[in-house]
Amino acid sequence: MRIEVDRELCISVASCVAVAPNTFELDSEGIAIIKNPTGDTKETILQAAQSCPVNAIRIFEDDGTQIHPPIAK
Ligand code: SF4
Repeated sequence: MRIEVDRELCISVASCVAVAPNTFELDSEGIAIIKNPTGDTKETILQAAQSCPVNAIRIFEDDGTQIHPPIAK
């Protein structure tokens, strides 16, 4: 699993940090960063991504398939 944070989208709400505090933290600019990509369970990290109001967090499977945000087919 791979996690990305789009720094242009992040508005520093920190709900990702609240849901998965072992994975995300805010940097000195108040933007979410990944401190440990395996800090929380996959389910918790996915919940953190889903909690982001601007979908700034993208989650990919190891094969590159995007899990979140869902892609319309
Ligand atoms: S929940 Fe989204 S907007 Fe809020 S800090 Fe995390 S990545 Fe940024």
